[in-house]
Amino acid sequence: MGAQLNLVEQNLHLVEVSSRRMLFHIPSSSLFELDGLTAQLIELLRSRPQQTAEQLIVELQEQFPVEQISDSLREMVALELVTDGSPLTPEIALKKVTEFPLNTLVLNVNTGCNLSCSYCYKEDLDKPSEGKKMVFDTARQSIEMLIKESPNEARYNIVFFGGEPLSNFGLIEQVVEYSEQRFAELNKPVDFTMTTNATLLTEEKIDWLNQHRFGISISMDGPKAIHDKNRITVGGQGTYDVVSSKAKMLLSRYNSRPVGARVTLTKGITDIRGIWDHLFNELGFAEVGFAPVTSGDISYYNLSDEEVAEVFSNMKLLGEEYLQAALEHRNIGFSNMHQLITDLHEGNKKALPCGAGVAMLAVDHEGGLNLCHRFTGSDLNTFGDVQTGMDKERLGAFLDQRLDRTNTGCDSCRIRNLCSGGCYHESYARYEDPTQPTYHYCDLLRDWVDFGIEVYSRIMAENPAFIDSYISPRRAH
Ligand code: SF4
Ligand code: SF4
Repeated sequence: MGAQLNLVEQNLHLVEVSSRRMLFHIPSSSLFELDGLTAQLIELLRSRPQQTAEQLIVELQEQFPVEQISDSLREMVALELVTDGSPLTPEIALKKVTEFPLNTLVLNVNTGCNLSCSYCYKEDLDKPSEGKKMVFDTARQSIEMLIKESPNEARYNIVFFGGEPLSNFGLIEQVVEYSEQRFAELNKPVDFTMTTNATLLTEEKIDWLNQHRFGISISMDGPKAIHDKNRITVGGQGTYDVVSSKAKMLLSRYNSRPVGARVTLTKGITDIRGIWDHLFNELGFAEVGFAPVTSGDISYYNLSDEEVAEVFSNMKLLGEEYLQAALEHRNIGFSNMHQLITDLHEGNKKALPCGAGVAMLAVDHEGGLNLCHRFTGSDLNTFGDVQTGMDKERLGAFLDQRLDRTNTGCDSCRIRNLCSGGCYHESYARYEDPTQPTYHYCDLLRDWVDFGIEVYSRIMAENPAFIDSYISPRRAH
């Protein structure tokens, strides 16, 4: 008598797409079209656990050749969709993180911002006159620390953040000049990225940024009525007029890389399609990404539970448009959907929610090392500084806590390798503990991923060339 077989429910998820059934293999984030035999094996084992291969063969041998049934079962055991009782491979190596493939440094070049957006989350945000600027020596030490701590990366990325980074433009120029020379000596490429409120852009600055191929995102919340609700000057005036005119100026002369808009969704703002339409069709941004705020420091601005549900439902409506356009071989620049499709296509499997603390660190104006840009100035202890280097011991211990999903809700969650417990800062803002997963909209997230599976499967079936044209080339960067 052979071993008793059981389904490993936590590793499989079935999704209906049109008339097809797709199997999402959770450990590898891969998608397979379910063939009739595998579907029946799953059904049989689901309705009656603990069956042997022989029993299953007896049930199905009138419909399928015996060899085919055995092969399918072997494959399912290899994929750990079915277990014969042998221990499953641990999904995530629970060993201490000691290697940090650091390739991205976020420099907080000025804690000051020339605007005063009502919802702003920044822990260390100051009024323009009180902004603490990073000095060049700290920035130079940051670059040297990056090279010393992590000399073997294929490419490096320096991100300029604030406050408003353009309010310390002189430093940015110095850092770019220094980095270009330093990384050229090492024969390594270096990229520059910046998120800006756009208000301080001039034609000269734009041309300089273009020359250095900056990846630029503009923080803009949508049409005037929406944008001016929160994105205001220190004096309380809306900034739509200046931001939209600067954005148009940028978009008309910037050609080195696509320019994206980053939209912050707060209390009362859920009109995803209207915002996308304005930013993509009317202003001409290449990409529009939405960041729903549910755990901001100023709880008044958080989206309510109903509003978060509305945001996801509106994201799906725009996702339908993304799909229709993709079938016509057009990309409508809906970043959230595009990223999900990319993750599914590449089979991205994340042990941790993001690169913070592993591939990326943020340097505050004094040179302290933080998990990411959202932690600079927070009460969470820093993880070393640019003068003395990374505190790998503490960083490793922090990451270990998040890697270990035992006894968390994430342990058997079907999107555990795409979500990985969510943003550390969201956890920190909610529970003052960045290691605790945030469970407040898991159902909506799972539904969003199911929707992504549906969209991805339809694109693959009906216009796979879209993936070749718009998804695969991104890997080159
Ligand atoms: S936070 Fe929620 S959605 Fe994310 S992996 Fe954990 S249980 Fe799943
Ligand atoms: S911790 Fe949160 S805010 Fe920071 S990089 Fe990760 S996902 Fe982004």
